[in-house]
Amino acid sequence: MSFTPDVAGHHSDTSGPILDAARRATAYLEARTQRGIFPAEEALSDLAAFPRDLADEPLPASEVLTMLDELGSPATVVTTAGRYFGYVNGGTDPAAAAAAVLTGVWDQNIALPDMSPIAGLLDDLAARWTLDLLGLPCTAIASFCSGASIANLTCILAARDALLHHNGWNVDRRGLTGAPPLRVIASAEMHASVAKALRAAGLGADDVIAAPTDELGRVRAEDFPDADERTLVLLQAGNVNTGHSDPFADIIPAIRERGGWVHVDGAFGLWAAASPMHRHLVNGVEQADSWATDAHKWLNAPYDSGIAICRVPGDLRRAMAFNAAYLSTDAERAPAHLGLQMSQRARGAEVWAILAHRGRAGVASLVDRLCAHAQHMAHLLQAAGVRLLVPVGLNQVLVQFDDDATTDAVIAAVQQDRTCWAAGTSWHGSRAMRISICDTATTSADIDTCAEAILRCWHACRAL
Ligand SMILES: *Cc1c(COP(=O)(O)O)cnc(C)c1O
Repeated sequence: MSFTPDVAGHHSDTSGPILDAARRATAYLEARTQRGIFPAEEALSDLAAFPRDLADEPLPASEVLTMLDELGSPATVVTTAGRYFGYVNGGTDPAAAAAAVLTGVWDQNIALPDMSPIAGLLDDLAARWTLDLLGLPCTAIASFCSGASIANLTCILAARDALLHHNGWNVDRRGLTGAPPLRVIASAEMHASVAKALRAAGLGADDVIAAPTDELGRVRAEDFPDADERTLVLLQAGNVNTGHSDPFADIIPAIRERGGWVHVDGAFGLWAAASPMHRHLVNGVEQADSWATDAHKWLNAPYDSGIAICRVPGDLRRAMAFNAAYLSTDAERAPAHLGLQMSQRARGAEVWAILAHRGRAGVASLVDRLCAHAQHMAHLLQAAGVRLLVPVGLNQVLVQFDDDATTDAVIAAVQQDRTCWAAGTSWHGSRAMRISICDTATTSADIDTCAEAILRCWHACRAL
């Protein structure tokens, strides 16, 4: 087989496509506000032009990029133009998107700090700044991972091993067979990723006691089951449907006094703590043993970026450290020993870029602004006769249009309309539209335009 020099890449073939990518990325950003939020039918049918079979022959990088941009860009869902309200998908901070271009070219692996001094420094700064912003103990340890699902799993594994360790059982040596049974108390409305993490940690649904919740989706402190030194308690900052948080201050101290472990899933809701105006909504959350959150949701970091945080660094290390001579390190902070992944990109660099760009005040105003947009959206819809199912919690708006069938029809119509995009859910027996406001690009004019579009779709569904 002959070596193909045009693909192996000499100098011009490396820098040319990077410049071209930057130019195309800029054009994409400029055009995105002109496009529908969901791709047009034509853009979707053009995807047929992507060859389905792997080519035998090489294709120059510039031609690959042309195909990606000309066919791919129009088929993207526009999550960064301020009018995407699906799931809890955050937009991307322009400072982070730019940093991601450069750090992508850097190609740094941050498994061990000697693999990249610069990525090691930024990982450490981003971790410490995150603890500071979220009002968590500065002696805790934060570790970057791919998202809150993995952050939940990481913390639950740390909790499981620590609880068993304190009950005289070494999981590292003895595994789980024959281990003292653990009890789990979880919000009846825990996020599906927490249930998945429990399963991966060897804890089944039958091991879980569901703590009853109220009309806002928060656990009720007065009905909270008793915990002991073998109990893992799972609370949440930001119910995925309502945005409301559990009453941490009323629950956590008693659990910890009895030797239990409290973990908080705060994928988006923990960011309330970064705002002096909204911090009271997660009052007491800093007393927990561990926290999972996302940088790719409210903070608007690029995917995929989550953060696992443990109060006692040794608890995280017990569950996550490697035993391999070639991976041993004296470094205080070695990401491979603080999470499930070994090789990993320098996610902390993007988080660092956002925090360096915004500063403390900028993150607080991002939180405040998206909360205000959610209130504004709820107000416009409610004033037109739409039923608000729950008072707005943080950045989530949950509404119903007449009845379940009409609600589903309105959701489908809004998705077709493409002015904005929102998805559905079921809430305490009713179908609902979830409007999740997570993009730094959203303006109050966007909220006006989108509320108008949603109402237009509602009226059209009623007229049918
Ligand atoms: C999104 C979300 C998760 C899962 O986070 P990923 O980053 O998607 O893995 C967990 N809990 C809550 C409350 C969420 O909103």
